[in-house]
Amino acid sequence: MNGITGLVLQGINNIYTVSSDSDRNILHCRIKGKVLGTSERMYNPIAPGDLVQVDQTASQHGMITGVLERRNRLIRWNMKRKLPQLLAANIDAVICVTSVDLPPFRPRFIDRVIVCAGDIPIAILVNKDDLSMDRMMLERLDTYRELGYPVFRVSAAAGTGFDCLREFLQHKLTAVVGQSGVGKSSVINRLIPAASQRIGDISVKYNRGRHTTNYAALIDAGTFSLIDTPGIREIQVPPMPLPEIGSCFPEIDALAGSCRFQPCLHRDEPDCAVISAVERGEIVYDRYESYLRIVQSIEELQDDF
Ligand code: GDP
Ligand code: ZN
Repeated sequence: MNGITGLVLQGINNIYTVSSDSDRNILHCRIKGKVLGTSERMYNPIAPGDLVQVDQTASQHGMITGVLERRNRLIRWNMKRKLPQLLAANIDAVICVTSVDLPPFRPRFIDRVIVCAGDIPIAILVNKDDLSMDRMMLERLDTYRELGYPVFRVSAAAGTGFDCLREFLQHKLTAVVGQSGVGKSSVINRLIPAASQRIGDISVKYNRGRHTTNYAALIDAGTFSLIDTPGIREIQVPPMPLPEIGSCFPEIDALAGSCRFQPCLHRDEPDCAVISAVERGEIVYDRYESYLRIVQSIEELQDDF
């Protein structure tokens, strides 16, 4: 028997980099046949953060024979491949990186990441705090804070604001998600100066000429770990039962039980407690609209099947 349990750090072109639990030895692994066979069709069957069983075949090589049960998963819908894409597994938190400007602050992107995160605790990180924030943006950040989401403001360029963020990250495995250009790599390099080096080291053999940001990678910084996910232009929530979307909006979830119809999608149902709260101004209209757009986007996906 040479069965080992290990932590998946990254996967590129079906070669997974696994750190052995017993001695941190790095193994480059393929997946053995169909042992992972599930009925679920996914863009990728394994992600950073997964714990896997490996049969070691050489000092640096192995075969993945199984995936241990996951505590949770972060999934987005891959629009190009029309399949769910596993970004990270077994994480303690998600950080959604946004920027004050360049690209412009996009609360709808944040709301979609929040829905993708589901029950996983999520924090919002605003980078480029050296640029000036308008009043609307400040109000929107207050809304997130009032809803219970930690909001961090940093400038990766100036190196400011990182103390609170570091404190939040301690002893956690955190997936970092962001639209390309918001400065996610710059933030990670500030947090872990050796990060780019480390990612490059591991991938050099199997990643000829490819950009290191095209795939997710787990970076261990000692007292905390990050999973850097690929920078994306857009994030789409994967198909899910429509009533679950409202549960990811705390202000909608708090009222959903009072709607006349159960379950209620809070669109045009009579005696809907959520619509009444929007009309009274107790729910921020833009958040409600964000919710409606997500529901609609999932209906459109389901029409595609
Ligand atoms: P990523 O695509 O999210 O990984 O973003 P990068 O880290 O590559 O940064 C994108 C651009 O934003 C680069 O031109 C950076 O120089 C710039 N940038 C990153 N952080 C900051 C910041 O704190 N302030 C400003 N003004 N620019 C930044
Ligand atoms: Zn309702």
